[in-house]
Amino acid sequence: MVKGEDTVSKKALSFVDAELAGLHEQNLYNNIRTLEGEQGAWVVIAGRRMLNLCSNNYLGLAANTRLKEAAKQAIDDFGVGPGAVRSIAGTMSIHTQLERELARFKKAEATLVFQSGFNANLGVIPVLVGRDDVIYSDELNHASIIDGCRLSRAEIKAHPHLDMKALEELLKADAARPGRKLIITDGVFSMDGDLGNLPAVADLAEKYGCVSMVDDAHGEGVLGSHGRGIVDHYGLHGRFDVEVGTLSKAFGCVGGFVAGPANLIDLLRQRGRPFLFSSSLTPSEAAANLEAVHILEASDKLVVQLWENARYFQGAMRELGFDTGRTQTPITPVMIGDAGKARDFAKALQEAGIFAMAIGFPTVAKGRARIRVMISAAHSRADLDFALGVFGRLGREMGISRR
Ligand SMILES: *Cc1c(COP(=O)(O)O)cnc(C)c1O
Repeated sequence: MVKGEDTVSKKALSFVDAELAGLHEQNLYNNIRTLEGEQGAWVVIAGRRMLNLCSNNYLGLAANTRLKEAAKQAIDDFGVGPGAVRSIAGTMSIHTQLERELARFKKAEATLVFQSGFNANLGVIPVLVGRDDVIYSDELNHASIIDGCRLSRAEIKAHPHLDMKALEELLKADAARPGRKLIITDGVFSMDGDLGNLPAVADLAEKYGCVSMVDDAHGEGVLGSHGRGIVDHYGLHGRFDVEVGTLSKAFGCVGGFVAGPANLIDLLRQRGRPFLFSSSLTPSEAAANLEAVHILEASDKLVVQLWENARYFQGAMRELGFDTGRTQTPITPVMIGDAGKARDFAKALQEAGIFAMAIGFPTVAKGRARIRVMISAAHSRADLDFALGVFGRLGREMGISRR
């Protein structure tokens, strides 16, 4: 290195320390916890066993024995790495089998699997729309939808959350506009647990000649028959054009997919950039996801357990006087309001042996801070009762619950 060069580059990077300091000052710096073992109803953090109310492991499949065995077998059969991107030499029979069986499970013509749900959005949105086109997007849509929309270079028109009148006004105003039009919504909004209005979106898409797309990350394995997702929940098979899903939440492993018409999936194989330019899922991931599909197809036991747990917990929390917001799913926001109070509450929960996170601005609006409790089929009744006992006591002590 030439003398002096390091000091020059250090100067150019001085914004890093300033930005970090800013995050600390505003209390927005996230101290990331490390789990010292597997993901389950209980986790070990800093040597301490805690009840896990934070994860998206809705069905407890992340450490399921059958998924583990399927992953191990795939390592023996296919090795540990795909060796290439899907479009060159990284497509193995375990990937195509997963795609076929996932399509059957989803009741879709075809699916294409990506490395994550995030990548699936980055892959599919720029294939659906481009520079001369327009996207209508709910203001609370997930970050990966927003990034996919930006990558597409289409014009983005956001409408207020779930405001179908406002959406129709935008569509009416653009009625004579040439180019393609895409309406895009989350299936389940992850901070409040409320549902996208898919029936209304399907109607509007048909009326105004738009493509309809839903990102159902928190609905896969949770909503619909056997966890087939939100399109199944609303009985909209054939009326929603594109479904994006994740394999990283209820499915217990990692990955994402697009489900839709066979010709669109065919085009995605030619044009989906994360599919073309980033290596595929490992064989063990594909095999574990395939095993999750088999488990869900064979039985809805875990999905039923998840909903039973969610109803029990949410009902008891309301009885304790907590405000659980507008949730329609196992996502349980415990509304607190003030961000500092929410942080203190999360800290007290953690001291009492409960791993739960406070969520505040900018993830949710100012004054809408909350603890977001994620219920899982893996929780036993005793686990939920333990959580309710702690919430009840701390809620009274800290003046958060109304009773
Ligand atoms: C979690 C989530 C994703 C990302 O899924 P990954 O598989 O973790 O990349 C995408 N969209 C929505 C709506 C999500 O909630």
